Amino acid sequence: MQYQSTRNSSISITSAEAIKQGLSEEGGLFVPENIPSVKLDEIEKMADMSYKQRARFVLSKYLTDFTDDELKNCIENAYTKEKFGTENIAPVYKLNDGMYILELWHGPTCAFKDMALQILPHLLTTSMKKTKENDEVVILVATSGDTGKAALEGFRDVKGTRIVVFYPNNGVSEIQKLQMITQEGNNVGVAAVSGNFDDAQNGVKKIFTDEDYKDLLAKNNFKLSSANSINWGRLVPQIVYYFSAYADMLKGEEITLGEKINIVVPTGNFGNILAAYYAYKMGLPVNRFICASNENNVLTDFIKTGVYDKNRAFHTTISPSMDILISSNLERFLYDLTGNDDSTISCWMNSLNIKGKYEVTPDVKSKIAELFSADCANDKETMETIKACNDKYGYVVDTHTAVGISVYEKYAAETKDETKTVIASTASPFKFNQSVLIAINGHGAVAGKDEFALLDDLAQKSGMTIPKSLAELKDKPKLFNTVCEKDQMLQVVSDFLQIG
Ligand SMILES: *Cc1c(COP(=O)(O)O)cnc(C)c1O
Repeated sequence: MQYQSTRNSSISITSAEAIKQGLSEEGGLFVPENIPSVKLDEIEKMADMSYKQRARFVLSKYLTDFTDDELKNCIENAYTKEKFGTENIAPVYKLNDGMYILELWHGPTCAFKDMALQILPHLLTTSMKKTKENDEVVILVATSGDTGKAALEGFRDVKGTRIVVFYPNNGVSEIQKLQMITQEGNNVGVAAVSGNFDDAQNGVKKIFTDEDYKDLLAKNNFKLSSANSINWGRLVPQIVYYFSAYADMLKGEEITLGEKINIVVPTGNFGNILAAYYAYKMGLPVNRFICASNENNVLTDFIKTGVYDKNRAFHTTISPSMDILISSNLERFLYDLTGNDDSTISCWMNSLNIKGKYEVTPDVKSKIAELFSADCANDKETMETIKACNDKYGYVVDTHTAVGISVYEKYAAETKDETKTVIASTASPFKFNQSVLIAINGHGAVAGKDEFALLDDLAQKSGMTIPKSLAELKDKPKLFNTVCEKDQMLQVVSDFLQIG
């Protein structure tokens, strides 16, 4: 299978090349030339497979230039019991007869980004070998919180790679920040940027498109690549867990083969929900997708109106990993919906770049409406949902997952749709302990307490154990204190690489 760019369909490269390049040179994203299909009886067979086997089955459909051994090796290195604390990797928790929580946060950094970022470094280094690349890869990441740590943890000490992570100075939780500035490894760099996530993301994009800088890097035997969800190697592993959830529900006799489910995804960059859409296009029986946003509800408006308009106030919310106004992966979705129309996509993205806005055709709008619902939840609703979920089910969720549940409950009340529904749970509640404890016990519960006292309190309240990686943060030295302006990001990278 070959890969094209969403802004130039005539490009035709292997998956290894697409993963190595990350972003196409004209700014487009790499997508498979067609979406492979999976038959119902194959889905049925997945019920008796391990997560690793399911991953091998799905990935082999897309990464056709990887040998069986190469794929197996990448998967074996990524989805281990040691790293995820469970063979199951992405277990499904039944909340009630209609609601199933897909727990995607059992990895080393306690958020769903691990599902992709534990395997991406292996896919990438394998891709480098396959394409006879001798340069060292330099991974640049802009993070709204969870990607940064997950990428650092995935790439740390991986031979032939270096990684620099930029996070918005005031846009991540205390725990997220601690996780990043205590990162160990001989190939890692971390810096805060004054600004919000989009500032950090735009800064990284600028470095990627700077031709002079690319030359300078090449002279020093470095090659830029990305671990953001624009990299195909980030997206493709995420398709696996939607099949896995369906297979688990089949195995547990919660659904029958072929029964359609709804999928709810708390969304930021549109990556996770896009992976679910690819699973559907491959043949996973899905009734509806429900796209859940926080107060940064640019996607809610887009799905309802067909107008994408980022000219609006940016809100810092209690679900910071979804505080995003430019949902990069939407481009892949639109490329598919327009029947791979690269010139239309270029035009829309150009308009987004210049006017901060574009409007899709009525045809595309109605295609979206056939399959997608969307809504948003503000911080107050999110907090209420955490409390209600704990009161009703004795199950504690994080702020992002709560946005998903809140939006789903609104949807279900409005539509009376009783289709069994899988809600992607994207972070451990321990990662956002402060908001979670306030939601359950009020502000008094957190007053004057540090992060680690809060972790203890939450463990007591939820009956869950504190993830080891979070408990350990207490004694780790803080290794990074750089804060830079938007226009200094390039210099930070140069300093880290000791060039220019
Ligand atoms: C990244 C992230 C999201 C948003 O995922 P997208 O793929 O960007 O839509 C949601 N929740 C958490 C906890 C995240 O880390």
